[in-house]
Amino acid sequence: LARLRARLVKSNNALGKGLLALLSQDKIDDDVWDEIEETLLLADLGAEATSELVDRLRERVTVEGLRDAGAVRSMLREELTLLIDPTVDRSVASERREDRPAVVMVVGVNGVGKTTTIGKMARVFVAEDKDVLLGAADTFRAAAAEQLATWGSRVGVPTVRSFEDGADPASVAYEAVKSGIEGEVDVVMVDTAGRLQNKVGLMDELGKIKRVIEKQAQVDEVLLVLDATTGQNGLNQAKVFSEAVNVTGIVLTKLDGTAKGGIVVAIQRQLGVPVKLVGLGEGADDLAPFEVNDFVDALLD
Ligand code: GDP
Repeated sequence: LARLRARLVKSNNALGKGLLALLSQDKIDDDVWDEIEETLLLADLGAEATSELVDRLRERVTVEGLRDAGAVRSMLREELTLLIDPTVDRSVASERREDRPAVVMVVGVNGVGKTTTIGKMARVFVAEDKDVLLGAADTFRAAAAEQLATWGSRVGVPTVRSFEDGADPASVAYEAVKSGIEGEVDVVMVDTAGRLQNKVGLMDELGKIKRVIEKQAQVDEVLLVLDATTGQNGLNQAKVFSEAVNVTGIVLTKLDGTAKGGIVVAIQRQLGVPVKLVGLGEGADDLAPFEVNDFVDALLD
């Protein structure tokens, strides 16, 4: 965890340091406020959150006359925390229900880190002594099921897959959940396709997978995986997905590779969906729950 925190700090240092330096100047005139605004926009906070934050900071600086570094830091900490909202429930459903496993569907564009995230999550659940089953419902790419199964064996959990080319993804998902119910496992995670070249086809497919799973068990969680380095583009993808399936949480990957951590704020506000997990590297342990306080501390450290 300390290692992950260090990575988060490193990736977000520029934003925090920039803001602290700007706000600690003797005279904060309009030019400085413009620079603050620019810093926030560059960190991918989004226009709406940026202007709200700048307004609040301006008001507080005027009213409270803050100058010393400590006071500025605690003001920033408070305002950023409020902006990201510490009251949101960010837990991921992984507890077995009365007579069925928790079912988690994982969606997102190819290359964002879906399969890797499933592997990392499976590892966390296994460490919590849970029985996990993976379903390889990305039947479009031959390599996808293989990659998921490789992660499965790496963390010691079975993968339900089809060896037939172009098998029906919904029926693979159905079979996975069926085995999960029969095997009385705690959680089934279903990987899905992410080819955005055929948007309508993909969205229909995801909707169908969900409906077919729900013939046997409720889908408790639909996690949308987004690559933090793609910024506003990721947000546009998110909108497409959330129209097709009811997204319950975001996993923001590759946060180790960007200084644009502000995207967390933009996503949550524009989609109304909480960021639940963050990916901080390619390794099996490089996944962390999204904690508002840790995140804000990382920004300001
Ligand atoms: P998928 O196509 O969405 O299933 O994506 P993959 O799981 O195959 O991941 C695509 C690439 O992103 C792989 O090289 C992963 O190792 C890498 N990746 C996934 N998550 C992270 C992360 O949090 N940080 C970094 N740096 N790389 C990641």
